[in-house]
Parts: sequence; C-alpha cells; structure tokens
Amino acid sequence: MRTVVNCKNLNVRFRTDDSLLPAVSDLSFSLNAGECLGVVGESGSGKSQTFLAMLGLLADNGAATGSVTFHHQELLHAPRKTLDTLRGNKLAMVFQDSLSALTPTMRIGDQLAEVLVRHKGLSKAQARSKVLAMLEIVSIPDADHRYNSYPFEMSGGMRQRVMIALAMLCSPEVLIADEPTTALDVTVQAQVLRLLDGLKRHTDTSIVLITHDLAVVAGLCDRIMIMYAGRAVEFGSVRQIFENPKHPYTMGLLRSVPGMASDPDIDLPAIPGQPPNLEDLPDGCSFAARCAYAMERCTVERPELYRMNNNRQSACHLEDIS
Ligand code: SF4
Repeated sequence: MRTVVNCKNLNVRFRTDDSLLPAVSDLSFSLNAGECLGVVGESGSGKSQTFLAMLGLLADNGAATGSVTFHHQELLHAPRKTLDTLRGNKLAMVFQDSLSALTPTMRIGDQLAEVLVRHKGLSKAQARSKVLAMLEIVSIPDADHRYNSYPFEMSGGMRQRVMIALAMLCSPEVLIADEPTTALDVTVQAQVLRLLDGLKRHTDTSIVLITHDLAVVAGLCDRIMIMYAGRAVEFGSVRQIFENPKHPYTMGLLRSVPGMASDPDIDLPAIPGQPPNLEDLPDGCSFAARCAYAMERCTVERPELYRMNNNRQSACHLEDIS
C-alpha cells in the first residue's frame, strides 16, 4: 500500500508560565492512500494537536519536533509558502466548530469560490459553477440561494456540510476531520458520516477521523489509533479493536459504546477517574490510576508500544507477560 503521510517520533510541547506541557509524545504512525484512520481518545489526549502540528497550525506557544512527511516532503518547519500551497489543496482539515472556522462576514459561496480561484486558478464564473455542484453533493438544499447566505444564517449541520464541501473542493489527498459530528444531532451526524463514507468509496482520498467516540469510527474507518495522555496506546484494524481490544483503556472506551454492553438496559459504565495532568505525568503508565489491571510495575515503568501479530500494537505491560 502507498504511504501518503509518515509521522515519526513526533513530540509537541506547549510553553506555559511555569512548564513545558507535553501534548504529544514520541508518536509514530503512517497513513496509506485511500484508507480511513480513526484517531480516538478523550479530550487532551493529543489527537488534534498531532494534526495541527502536521499542518503548521499550532498555537504560538507550541513547538513540534520529530518528522511528519507528506509523500516524503517534510512538513514540520516547512516554509510558510509550502504549507500555504498544500493546505486546503492537498491537505484539508474540517474543524468541529464550523462557525468560527468560516469567515462570518463573507457569503458562503464566495468563501468556497475563493479557494478554487487561489489554488486552482479558476475564473470566478468557473469557480461559482463548481461550488454550486459541490454544495449539491453535500446535500445543501437550494444551493443557488444558499450560495449567498452568511454562515450565521445556516444551521450547525448545514455549516458542517459546507466545511466538508470546502475541504473537498480541491480534491485533497488527505482530509482530516476533527470531531466533525460532535456538535450535531443524531440525524445530521449520520448525514455527515455518510458523506465521508461516500468520499472514501468514490475517491482515493485518505481520511483521518478524529473523535472521542469509538462508535463514530466503527462503520467508516479501516484502522484505529487509540491515544491517551499524548501517546498512542493501541493500534489495530477496526475489527481487531472492536472484537479483541488489548489495552485496558480501549476496553473501557468500548464498554461505554451503546450496543456493546452485555445488558442494554444497564447504564453504560464510564471509565472511572480523569486523565492525568499533562504537566505532572506519572513515571509509569499514564493510565495506571484508572486501570483495573494495574500492578506494581505499572507505577514505575512506562510501557512501550509492543508489536504483536497482524500489525497490532499495544502499550501495556499485560502484553509482554501474556
Ligand atoms: Fe493498566 Fe498496567 Fe497496562 Fe497501564 S501498563 S494499562 S496500568 S495494566
């Protein structure tokens, strides 16, 4: 399979008043052409910062080290001009908060058309007709009329579909969707996921779906990377993760997925406790305080990712004693 993105030993740090906050630590993964990778974890696990670092969009107090390549072209610390050419063209990102991601004072159609004029050199008339076609593909009703709407005049679901249209306009090779369904009701969530599924089926675009909700990745993704406290703790195919999770954190996430509980009438169990403070991480396993399987070794020795058969990986001491 052709590798499109290769991330090696990525570290992302944020300087705060009195410390250096490790948002992402020693992260390595690859993304293949045409595949959908689910990146799953709780808030603060480093999911979004990984891809913001890749696109050169970290906040001013953030810095990334390691390597992230796109077709062998290094993205970390690439010149602004290079990133501007790639972003929105070859690499596109859909954000959770569509209202702040769109320019509030500009009509939707003009915002989309501008991308085609800038990246593809289309005339305004050519861009308008391509934008109208794309608005129809993402099921925006009455696209001619909506072309002239401002973002605040649309519902959250419609804006999210506009964001996906914006991301798809230049036929990107990689589409990163960051919690694209979180703020939406169940019906619109299903529409957005269907849209991404159609994109996956009909194009060679690689999709990264970032979410805190394992249920969202089930029907769409090929592989899953589970993140906790800035590190990858498990990798596997969707089937492997759902049928035979190896890491206790993944097991906890799965238990809280509706439909996975053995008795559908009981309340879904949440993972007890909270993720650790990134400014004060424990010496051993970051999940130890919440883990039902924790042993003495877990409090003093951090588990490394352990590669098993079938390309599975898990960072847990249980793996190398089983
Ligand atoms: Fe639990 Fe120990 Fe595995 Fe961490 S290393 S997940 S604490 S068993």
